[in-house]
Amino acid sequence: MSSSMLIRFWGVRGSIPCPGPGTARYGGNTPCVEVRCGDQVLIFDAGTGIRDLGHALINDKSGRDADIFFTHCHLDHIMGLPFFEPLSREGQKLGIWAGSLRPAAGIADAVHRLMSFPLFPIGIESFHANIQFHDFCAGEKLGPRPGITLRTAALGHPGGATGYRVEFAGRSVAYLTDLELGDGPFDEGAMGLARDADVIIVDATYTDEEIPAHLGWGHSSWQQVAKFADAAGAKKACLFHHDPAHDDAFMDKVAAAAAKARPDTVVAREGLCIEL
Ligand SMILES: [Zn+2]
Ligand SMILES: [Zn+2]
Repeated sequence: MSSSMLIRFWGVRGSIPCPGPGTARYGGNTPCVEVRCGDQVLIFDAGTGIRDLGHALINDKSGRDADIFFTHCHLDHIMGLPFFEPLSREGQKLGIWAGSLRPAAGIADAVHRLMSFPLFPIGIESFHANIQFHDFCAGEKLGPRPGITLRTAALGHPGGATGYRVEFAGRSVAYLTDLELGDGPFDEGAMGLARDADVIIVDATYTDEEIPAHLGWGHSSWQQVAKFADAAGAKKACLFHHDPAHDDAFMDKVAAAAAKARPDTVVAREGLCIEL
């Protein structure tokens, strides 16, 4: 089995898709990140970026099985799911995971509600894939596939969200989006997932100047992410979940300022691949 590890960004935008000439370079699709561990495909969130990932998986004969891990079910993170082409593939095995939706109805119920009258024309049961739903409690350690460990923690976000840390072949990637970091000291749950990680992907919706008008909204600034990355001893930090109001010119400025403030800090954009 290959021990390569690859991160590919399919959607990096928060809140709502914002395609158009002003966002063409960083991308307008909402959150979807693929983490390949050898041949195994882990998908984090099913925002609109998952549509293109679905095409790629259909065209790629390896890695037929897939698992989707939700941070939470706000629309920007789940709205692409009905358009994920492998759902229609006979024999496709697909795991759908979420933390902390219990004791409410759980992830199966959330997906059924998304794909039901009057919101969507057909139900999830109309698709051919073999879907397994998995509810867990944020904080649990998961072993979705041989050789892969997923650590999880609850994140500070309205309605709750789950952060993940993927560990494979001696490397680690943390996916922490939709969380309000503040200026520190930082939450121990998020910090535990990010500590000494090779790559952290973190909510950087705003700038420090924009934060006061958005307190309690459950998001962070890129400056807070830079401080958090330093405190955690993480190597590479990827700024993620960009505000739809921030066009490419704005994101270029964020990218330059963030790289200057903290080396090995990058702005995530659609199509960006990071090999570990
Ligand atoms: Zn979001
Ligand atoms: Zn959210």
